[in-house]
Amino acid sequence: MKKARTRGPFSWSLRPLVGPYLRGMLALRGIEKAYPLAGGTLPVLKGIDLSIEQGEMVAIMGSSGSGKSTLLNVLGLLDGFDAGGYDLDGVDMSGLSEKQAARYRSQFLGFVFQSFNLIAFKTAVENVALPLFYQKVARRERQKRAVEMLAKMGMDDRADHLPSELSGGQKQRVAIARALITEPRVILADEPTGALDSTTSHEVMDVLREVNASGITVIIVTHEADIAAKCDRTIRLHDGVIIEDGRSGEVVEPTANGAVSSD
Ligand code: ADP
Ligand code: MG
Repeated sequence: MKKARTRGPFSWSLRPLVGPYLRGMLALRGIEKAYPLAGGTLPVLKGIDLSIEQGEMVAIMGSSGSGKSTLLNVLGLLDGFDAGGYDLDGVDMSGLSEKQAARYRSQFLGFVFQSFNLIAFKTAVENVALPLFYQKVARRERQKRAVEMLAKMGMDDRADHLPSELSGGQKQRVAIARALITEPRVILADEPTGALDSTTSHEVMDVLREVNASGITVIIVTHEADIAAKCDRTIRLHDGVIIEDGRSGEVVEPTANGAVSSD
């Protein structure tokens, strides 16, 4: 079922695109990862083949402990892997130094978390501007871009509020603005609606759909079916392997190369 793209409460300007439309902007082949455990190791990812194109909106589902966050952390270069290959934008990501990984993260990727991860003693606009500080953008420019990004989120009237003065949905909008401020190609969100009520969850998903409509790839870990239904494609993990991969709402067996097999 193809869902209508609803317009959110703010107008998302289509920014000048983000390079050519590439196949398999994120491509995993046979990814394996285990965590060290007293007296052995715990295998968590057991051979993941997955290809995600630029502009996709993908849900990663699965029960608790199935490896969703681990997979997202590998995709986000927050964590390494033991075997297999990962190409991001056509570049081999295996064996990156921490410094190289940080550079790719800051260039390509934006992160959104269940618990928002805002800095409590900084205002909304200061939180949003922070990634630009690490990119050595001048103070005035940081402030200007952060205010603009908050305005796109319908949050300009809350720019000077501390996180403690914001609702959960507002905090997540600030976190999304912070993820977008560096103009990433991919947003990785780990249970972004996990701490929100149902109405607010759907509002946040509408924001993420708007983000996706501007050309940014969006990958969302969730265990809620109605959240996954707002994505175009659902990947289901079970015990470290992909057991389903297809259009959201349909059940499709994954193909050998991990691509969507229905169209
Ligand atoms: P999910 O996000 O699907 O709930 P995770 O990827 O967080 O699953 O975890 C998968 C498995 O790996 C779980 O059994 C979890 O306890 C274990 N695990 C996750 N992170 C670590 C870690 N840093 N060290 C050891 N075990 C971990
Ligand atoms: Mg998790």
